Formats: sequence, structure tokens, C-alpha cells
Amino acid sequence: MIDLHNHTPLCNHAIGTPEEFIQKAIQKGIKIYGFADHAPMEFDYEYRMSFEDMSKYENEIKKLKEKYKDKIEILLGYEVDFTPFVDKRVLQREVDYLIGSVHFLDNWGFDNPEFIKEWERRDVDDVYKEYFNKIEEMANSRLFNIVGHIDLVKVFGHTPTKNIKDLAKNAIKAIKKANMVVEINTSGLRKPVKETYPSNELLEMILNEDIDITLSSDAHAPEQVGYKLKETIEKLKKLGVNEAVYFKNKEKFKIKL
Ligand code: ZN
Ligand code: FE
Ligand code: FE
Ligand code: ZN
Repeated sequence: MIDLHNHTPLCNHAIGTPEEFIQKAIQKGIKIYGFADHAPMEFDYEYRMSFEDMSKYENEIKKLKEKYKDKIEILLGYEVDFTPFVDKRVLQREVDYLIGSVHFLDNWGFDNPEFIKEWERRDVDDVYKEYFNKIEEMANSRLFNIVGHIDLVKVFGHTPTKNIKDLAKNAIKAIKKANMVVEINTSGLRKPVKETYPSNELLEMILNEDIDITLSSDAHAPEQVGYKLKETIEKLKKLGVNEAVYFKNKEKFKIKL
């Protein structure tokens, strides 16, 4: 098993020590385990580490990587918000991979329960269009290795009247062209929408485009590590998916599922 998207308390909204996350991963039989905590930016300070925290974060994970190297392969990354605040100081870090995520449409944190009221003022189709335009733009930026929770916009269960395949088509083409990887992220199963990111429909498109996939639980607490990954891998195998990928020093490697 592989789980590349996990947080630490440095982002101010996760609990448990990184070591507890790793012990849980070992217990669950995960072989390749990555941290990708919320990278700093000059915006939305409350939900991420500070620029000063980056060395501390990286050193702690590297120390644990060494300590547990006989039991599990630990990787180091960041989850980066694709906004105008993407920061060189983050992009320049020497890490294994960067996950690019869209959590903001302009200044609106659309997936944050704190700002859920804004959904009532918006047209759902327009939100979906805007969201997938951002994903497309993110792919075209060529800044990241992995697309984070590709259809996060569905998190609260809002459904568009337009066909989701049409809405996401250009974004998925851009992801393919940019040679990005899509994570199958199980955290959606813990959210009101109650399904993985991506949905079955989008997964079908992604597989048709021959886009590589990886897996993640997006754990914000040790008990969420590896969340429903086993079932998800079984489902993938039934669809004919037999390998996942990961990155070391931004270089792509394949692993059999
Ligand atoms: Zn988070
Ligand atoms: Fe995220
Ligand atoms: Fe995350
Ligand atoms: Zn995430």
C-alpha cells in the first residue's frame, strides 16, 4: 500500500505527532508513506505552517525517515495551494514531490465549513466551471507533480446540472499533457459527499487518458492513516489498474498494487 498525502500538526488543523502517523502506517502495512503538509503562503495563515516552520518540518520527517528506514519508506512533500500566492520559497525546497491543490476560488475557501454560507450565494454550475478552470490552469503551470483531490469542489455534496465529464474534460486533458499524476484520495469518504476524489466518472476519464495514479488518505490524525485504502485498491484492480506511482526527488517510480 502507498499513501502519499498526510498532514502534521504544523498546519494547525491536524493532530498527533508525525511519529504516531508513521507507526500507524507500519501497522496498516503501508510500504511507501509520504507527508505533504500544507505549505506556507502569504494568505490563509491559520491553516498552514509558517515559512519559518519549513526547515523544522523537513528535518523532523528526514529524521523519522532514517529511524524507520528498515520498516517503511518515508517520503517528503508539500501540498501547495494553487493561488496567486504560490511562493518561490516553497517551490525551491528540495523535496520528493509537490501536490497541487485548489481550495480557493479567488479568496473563497470553498471547502472550508467556516465559509459554507457562500455556496448559497453562488450558482453551482459556475462554481464547478471556475474550479475546473483552476485545475486546468494549475496543470498548465507545470509547477506540481500530483493533482490533489481533483474534484474537491463536490465536498459538501453540491451537484452541478451540467455533465461532470464536460465540466472536467479540459482539466483532465491538461493534466495528461503536463504529465501530472492524479491521487485517488479517500478523504472524501469522510466528508458530506461520501465518495473518493475522483468520482467513478472522472476516474474513468483519467484511466482512459492513461494518466498515472497514486493513493492517499489525506490524514489529519493518526487514525485516518491509510483510511479505506485497501477497499479502494481492490476497486482499482477490478478496473484493471495494477500500478501506482510515487516520487523521489521529483523522479517518478512505479509500484505494483
Ligand atoms: Zn488540511
Ligand atoms: Fe487539500
Ligand atoms: Fe491535504
Ligand atoms: Zn488535501
